[in-house]
Amino acid sequence: MANYYNENTIIYLDGKFVKAAESKIDLYSQSLHYGFAVFEGIRSYRTTNGSTQIFKAKEHYDRLKHSADSLRLPYQYNSEELIEATYEVLKQNNLQNAYIRPLVYGPSNMSFNLNTESHLTIQAWEMGAFLGDKLLRIGTSTFQRPNPKGFKITAKAAGHYVNSILASYEAKDLGYDEALLTDMNGFVAEGPGANMFFEKNGKLFTPSLGNILPGITRATVLEICKELGISVEEKFFTKEEVYGSDAAFFCGTAAEVIGWESLDGIAFNKDWNDTMGKKVQDAYKAIIVANK
Ligand code: PMP
Repeated sequence: MANYYNENTIIYLDGKFVKAAESKIDLYSQSLHYGFAVFEGIRSYRTTNGSTQIFKAKEHYDRLKHSADSLRLPYQYNSEELIEATYEVLKQNNLQNAYIRPLVYGPSNMSFNLNTESHLTIQAWEMGAFLGDKLLRIGTSTFQRPNPKGFKITAKAAGHYVNSILASYEAKDLGYDEALLTDMNGFVAEGPGANMFFEKNGKLFTPSLGNILPGITRATVLEICKELGISVEEKFFTKEEVYGSDAAFFCGTAAEVIGWESLDGIAFNKDWNDTMGKKVQDAYKAIIVANK
């Protein structure tokens, strides 16, 4: 497994800055047994003037609160104080290009009664920008995304990721780089940890909200398209519409903007460098390191 921390790593835990190596989790935590926890995935970047900047910090912490509220996990924080704590974690660990993982988890509670307390931790580790130029071979999964009638689909809840991991394992077993999951109606939904767009006839398309995690990067891509004059339509569509189209890409905090080579072995028509996705990728690359 990767090295996320060492004996010097500092994390934020319930209002204090403490050593990761000395922190313990309660083995009776409801989160460990039932996956009942919420989290975020955030990135910070070294900007063009050398400062460290957390990208879309408020959006991520606002979503963390939304996720906690969705699961009725006690949440007594405001985004501003947590952003401040996150900058302190980055500083104490000497990190600039980092992946930041806030997690809200439950106390010991084996019952299905409401929690009266929760814990919050913020961890961070080095992660370089990867905006890959290696294109992804994607395979449609036999696993569908959770039905929104069975889950709080707009919450970034830990338990949802059992679905993501199963889909990713399956795709890799079949020789693909990553999976594409459909929704409960068979329409294209998203990747295990990223939203998707595809290009056809001079236009981009992305799945409508409803059965997907409303990604912060997805929203950023929509803003970029507006600025660049690229027209985007949000709609429900099948994988057959994506087959043999001009191009497609994933977008997400960790994935950033990354193009696809093929879907289910069917290549895209355009060279990635000639696509709208590449224009979006270049714009995204500039935004994440721009000083605000
Ligand atoms: N969908 C899923 C299932 C995800 O886990 C993520 C990553 N948080 C995304 C989409 C992309 O979301 P964001 O752009 O906010 O990172």
